[in-house]
Amino acid sequence: MDPLSLCQDPLGRDSSAILERDADCLLPVYARYPIVMERGKGVYLFDIDGRPYLDMMAGLGVNALGHAHPRMLAAMADQAERIVHLSPQYSNPHPGHLAERLCDLAGMAGAFFSTGGSEAVEGALKLARSLGSRNFSPRKHGIVALRSSYHGRTFGSLSVTGQQKYQADFGPCLPGVSFIDRNDLGQLEAAVSEDTCAILIEPLLGEGGVHECHADFLQAARRLATRHGAALIFDEIQSGLGRTGRWFASEPSGVRPDILILGKPLGGGLPLSAILVTDELFHAFGMARHGSTLGGSPLACRLGLEFLAIMEEEDILACVADTGAYLSMRLAEIVSDHDVAVEARGTGLMQAVELAAPARPIVEAALAQGVMLNCVQGNVLRFLPPLIIDRSHVDQAMDLLAILLEVPHFADADRLLATATK
Ligand code: PMP
Repeated sequence: MDPLSLCQDPLGRDSSAILERDADCLLPVYARYPIVMERGKGVYLFDIDGRPYLDMMAGLGVNALGHAHPRMLAAMADQAERIVHLSPQYSNPHPGHLAERLCDLAGMAGAFFSTGGSEAVEGALKLARSLGSRNFSPRKHGIVALRSSYHGRTFGSLSVTGQQKYQADFGPCLPGVSFIDRNDLGQLEAAVSEDTCAILIEPLLGEGGVHECHADFLQAARRLATRHGAALIFDEIQSGLGRTGRWFASEPSGVRPDILILGKPLGGGLPLSAILVTDELFHAFGMARHGSTLGGSPLACRLGLEFLAIMEEEDILACVADTGAYLSMRLAEIVSDHDVAVEARGTGLMQAVELAAPARPIVEAALAQGVMLNCVQGNVLRFLPPLIIDRSHVDQAMDLLAILLEVPHFADADRLLATATK
């Protein structure tokens, strides 16, 4: 039987009708693409008509192992039969096991699980605030964050996101947040004071356009946080857990934060995020002062454990480093061959190319050719593919991109593609 009819959806496989219903029933918050996806396998997604798409964005960095990984499916089915959700007041083996594994990888001492990234950022801010006010003074509530950063859409996470466009109309945001430019040591030094309770950094800014924080900047943040009794928080929701070819993007700096925030791929596609803390902060929340009903469910944590096991057993970090180096090389070629491509940057499988033109037409043209790209900041193509892509997939995407960038103002892609494929 057609799996769609099992849902008793009267619209069946009529994609235009499904898109129309979406427009009628779902709040118009996302600029959706006019395609209805049905399933995924490996690094490909398939639309409702069975057409394949190479996935170069992995559901915004979530689907690290691609789609329908057999081991993830087996773990999901087995765990679903046992227990899906449990009140966090009761124990199950998986959350503690996952916390232990993550702490081993990150050199941290304990974890708190929540659902999405924004919720974990909220928790981290609360932790830093409560430490500041209990250990020092109620005035110690300042947060230093980076311009162009992205930390989420809830009020706290929005308040520390260094992009005005997201905050517009929703104010007032949290007081006491100051923004500085990444890698500017002078601004950092000037911003951190006795009233600072947290310095919040995305070591590799993702949504802001894939920009790296230098090691000396992270090291200076560490020194200042320690000197002023503030918590150093790294948000590695996007850059962490293997995306850069290392477990954490901040690793080369040698800096250990007080709080490390993880999310996106952690739950194998199920909502799961984590706040990892050092020994000193292990008891900082205190009993019953924070919580998350759905956070750290047995099912999500079991998938997290399976995800980590696959990453290790299949040496996926090494694959990411290798494929990432190849992607860097192909992007460097794109930049040297096409005036419209201004700069390539990033590392591992978190890379971007900045265009001197809007990027959305390229994303749309690529989609029409069966490749899913992603754009941020209007003119930046960001690549966040599943960590299991290989060089042939990189070639498929880059060969297409090279053709699309040839088209003056990207207007006549169909004609050029027709000539190129003859
Ligand atoms: N921090 C970073 C660095 C992110 O990339 C994101 C999501 N793009 C978030 C926080 C927010 O995560 P979520 O959308 O899961 O709330």
